[in-house]
Amino acid sequence: MATRTIDKPALLAKYHAERDKRLRADGNDQYVEIAGDFAHFLDDPYTPRVERAPVTDHVRFAFVGGGFAGLCTGARLVEAGVTDVRIIEKGGDFGGTWYWNRYPGAQCDTASIIYLPLLEETGHMPTEKYAHAPEILEQSQRIGRTFGLYEKALFHTRVTEMTWDEAARVWVIETDRGDRFTADFIGMGTGPLHVPKLPGIPGLASFKGHSFHTSRWDYDYTGGDTHGAPLDKLRDKRVAIIGTGATSVQCVPHLARAAGTLYVVQRTPSSVDVRANAPIDPEWFAGVATPGWQRRWLENFALNVGMGGAPDDWVQDGWTDLSRRIRARVMALPPEQMTPEGMIAAYEDSDFEKMEEIRARAETIVNDPETAEKLKAWYRQLCKRPCFHDAYLQAFNEPGTHLVDTDGKGVERIDETGFWVGGKHYEVDCIIFASGFEVGTGHTRRAGFDITGVGGAKLSEAWADGMRTLHGLQVHGFPNAFLVQFAQAANFIVNVPHNWTETGSSVAAIVAHAGATGATRVDADAEAQAKWVELLLSGPGMMIGAPDCTPGYYNNEGQEPDPATRYAVGYPAGAVAFFKYMERWRNDGKFEGVVFE
Ligand code: NDP
Repeated sequence: MATRTIDKPALLAKYHAERDKRLRADGNDQYVEIAGDFAHFLDDPYTPRVERAPVTDHVRFAFVGGGFAGLCTGARLVEAGVTDVRIIEKGGDFGGTWYWNRYPGAQCDTASIIYLPLLEETGHMPTEKYAHAPEILEQSQRIGRTFGLYEKALFHTRVTEMTWDEAARVWVIETDRGDRFTADFIGMGTGPLHVPKLPGIPGLASFKGHSFHTSRWDYDYTGGDTHGAPLDKLRDKRVAIIGTGATSVQCVPHLARAAGTLYVVQRTPSSVDVRANAPIDPEWFAGVATPGWQRRWLENFALNVGMGGAPDDWVQDGWTDLSRRIRARVMALPPEQMTPEGMIAAYEDSDFEKMEEIRARAETIVNDPETAEKLKAWYRQLCKRPCFHDAYLQAFNEPGTHLVDTDGKGVERIDETGFWVGGKHYEVDCIIFASGFEVGTGHTRRAGFDITGVGGAKLSEAWADGMRTLHGLQVHGFPNAFLVQFAQAANFIVNVPHNWTETGSSVAAIVAHAGATGATRVDADAEAQAKWVELLLSGPGMMIGAPDCTPGYYNNEGQEPDPATRYAVGYPAGAVAFFKYMERWRNDGKFEGVVFE
């Protein structure tokens, strides 16, 4: 078989030229916060808000966020005998991301067997290799039911303040529903991508047609449902979808099939590799599901996408494929080239090869050569979130679907009847914003609240020049509080829920230990925290989102990174090593670095 010759300098020059087109001085400020005139974009279209009396009681553990982080922590607490758990959630049910993102075609991009948390504990077999959103939402609800987490949960409720009361040794929690209750312990799992944003296109507010953000899909307008029923009300509509990230890639095929006319408005193409979804065979699964199976699978996946060390790849999804290829390239190096530079060059070779393959895929699938050319992604695969889909590129062969490529510039402006690109006006009935979520904004703005620890110190102030934690979980001066997030911990972004099932176990072990020993105040030791941060900073830092990448949320929209972000790193020896370290740490009963009083 003939191999394509790769002209590396030419490709690099093309990558840089495409990136340069997209660099803009306003970086993250180009986006519009959803507030004021745009506030209705945040309304919950899925569950009616029910009035209720304010809550003024006391619980053992209060957790902010009813997504996977809260559910996994809640489940682990209940397993450890801590059952008085209250989850506070801004949505109308559990699910977090999967509560909000119900757009047609939504599905997980990491294999369900390891992406869906607590499968073994809840006795659920995923139906497909990559489950669709309704099943993922159901798994969230199943976890809630299995562990009795619904009983005390507060939905459609936003925390506004959490304040440590040193004298009473409790946290005082206040919400937008007038609640004011106390908790011995608090946890926070507010997630990195839960605040939708709009593109800062001139005239955005002037559009008189219908519009919504993909994370608040309006099925009343489009027809169809989250299970994939045709969007039948769009048959005579002209629809534009702005954005071509991971969300758009999943919903465009559904829109293309249904809409009279569909304009897919592109600023930067996504890399779209093979999906190869398939149903899971119950007989095969019965063979897999022996006691302790999901933990073994999680570890096998984490080893395969990390530094290697597993003899086989059980999961075999797009992520393990990507990592195996890179490792194989590196391992094939002759001994004299096994240098950091040699390894980077091997990684680059593997990346050029993969991206050429993905670009060739566009040519093979898309009938119109000009459209195919515009759908090619000119950057390294990990510069932007890699996508996997078997119907996205095909959608551009639908007669009513048109790619409107903005050549990296974005939409010029929006007016009452439509939008402008390249001096041309497109009249539409509906604009769907697949414009993503706030990432580079402050933690307090995204979470919607700050927390106040010992002596009135605010977490935002304590972290003004970068986060400081012990194990990514506790912060000195904020006793009895836990952060369920991945920075300064495993930083395992490829399979986020894996972080939560492990971190949940650490939280549960600490709280159970406090209960068993009668401790009422549990704080990270300042020196232990400083040492932990020092250890983390000795590592290689973040691998994704290099500054020379095409702009996006992975690299702060191509702007100089905020110096504080250098603290948002993971355990230097990798995710699996971190999980093992924490398992030993919580099981040896010493809880080194944590002061129990
Ligand atoms: P993204 O931030 O990835 O995409 C936003 C899109 O809007 C980009 O294509 C962006 O272009 C485009 N855009 C922004 N401003 C303009 C403008 N002025 N004119 C035209 N286009 C514009 O959001 P997504 O919701 O797609 O994805 C966010 C993240 O959510 C993913 O990266 C992933 O982590 C997660 N996700 C996970 C899924 C899964 O696991 N199954 C599914 C979907 C999402 P540009 O690229 O040029 O900035």
